[in-house]
Amino acid sequence: MAATTRTNWAGNVTYRASALERPTSVAELQQLVAATPRLTALGSTHSFNEIADTDAVQVTLAGLPPLLEIDETRRVVRVAAGMTHSQVASGLEARGWALANLASLPHISVAGAVATGTHGSGVRNPSLAQAVVGLDVVRASGAVDRVDASSPDDTLDAHRVALGALGVVTAVELAIEPTFQVATTVHLDLPWDAVSAHFDDVMSDAYSVSMFTSFDDRGARQVWTKHRVDEPGPAVDLVALGARRADGPVHPGENDAASVTEQGGVPGSWAERLPHFRSTFTPSTGAEIQAEYLIPAAHAVAALDALRPLEPVFAPLLIAAEVRTIAADTAWLAPSTGRQSVGLHFTFRRDPAAVASAVERIEAVLAPFDPRPHWGKVSAAGVERLHEVYPRLDDFAALARDLDPAGRFRNAFLARVLS
Ligand SMILES: Cc1cc2nc3c(=O)[nH]c(=O)nc-3n(C[C@H](O)[C@H](O)[C@H](O)COP(=O)(O)OP(=O)(O)OC[C@H]3O[C@@H](n4cnc5c(N)ncnc54)[C@H](O)[C@@H]3O)c2cc1C
Repeated sequence: MAATTRTNWAGNVTYRASALERPTSVAELQQLVAATPRLTALGSTHSFNEIADTDAVQVTLAGLPPLLEIDETRRVVRVAAGMTHSQVASGLEARGWALANLASLPHISVAGAVATGTHGSGVRNPSLAQAVVGLDVVRASGAVDRVDASSPDDTLDAHRVALGALGVVTAVELAIEPTFQVATTVHLDLPWDAVSAHFDDVMSDAYSVSMFTSFDDRGARQVWTKHRVDEPGPAVDLVALGARRADGPVHPGENDAASVTEQGGVPGSWAERLPHFRSTFTPSTGAEIQAEYLIPAAHAVAALDALRPLEPVFAPLLIAAEVRTIAADTAWLAPSTGRQSVGLHFTFRRDPAAVASAVERIEAVLAPFDPRPHWGKVSAAGVERLHEVYPRLDDFAALARDLDPAGRFRNAFLARVLS
């Protein structure tokens, strides 16, 4: 299929691909891979940089049949890689099962989320890639390889966050657990002194906690506490710390609160509480650009203090900044690999030049804290910096060369990052 002008979801990247292929079976995909000198897998287009673009051929798995097979004994679900988290979550919930965590938007594809180390929040919750127990991947030859815990050495950890470089993933096996209920409570305007003094207590007070800030005098202008109802309730009294409980639903940015998952402490399925946004809400193109950095959790308060003087830079540009926690991962390229992490996330208005300048300022401020940029978001980090903060990047580049010597899955993003 010839590519008409197409963009990523946010509209800040116009794809240069000469064609978008849409196979309808794994066999057809295998033939396509074997016959195409260079191609890049495209997920649900939610990345904000050129990671999913190419000047050759893009391939979407949206035409492959959906698949959702639950193995109750192993507590594993096998899903088609191109399915979205909302499809997987509703299928699991209907049968009494759950994933441990989800990203803020459930419309993102499973393979795309895994490939970039996408995460939710929670001091005990690593990235979504850490839930992967097996993968089927079409290699450059067109053959399908299965990768799982029985693969040699740490092959599975190399493949969890693979940036599309090791092949086209067709099926993903994810760890599951029995369904659980979550209740979201939102507090407003937690003062900076309370954020600084009680950061760890607040962020670990529930299964998943997010703080939103504009870096202005309101401090954490929203604190979303997502509490699992099968665990003890939150113990930190945010009102006593100076916040007030929201008296109705709130959106973390500027949009209508009708799009957010239910708040107000009303228990509901994990599938309808762990994402911030409702699966039934259809986001069109989002006029925004996101950047995010994962730093060691121990530096979170110092990093927030260091960012606050940038508030005048942020004021015209920032829609929302979100602070989340991510448990340490074993995936080679997860931004949270090997360290308990805090994610500092920025949703900016879609003004690429102003965002590029703000991102440079942020990266300069965060430099002492070893920030690892999110693979699916914008960053100014050069390749040397990426090698400094991602200790297995060289190993990954060598593996990509071994598995794909002719560079069939190589695009400009990978050519730069894996050089
Ligand atoms: C509104 C919004 C909210 C977001 N919320 C979060 C969040 O809460 N947490 C977070 O960490 N990130 C978040 N993100 C970022 C997002 O999760 C990542 O950018 C993710 O990679 C997007 O997945 P995708 O399916 O759109 O993949 P794409 O952007 O299409 O592709 C991303 C990468 O995945 C690879 N890929 C896709 N499919 C396959 C496949 N089948 N086989 C091999 N490689 C493949 C591509 O080649 C590319 O390298 C958000 C993004 C948006 C737009």
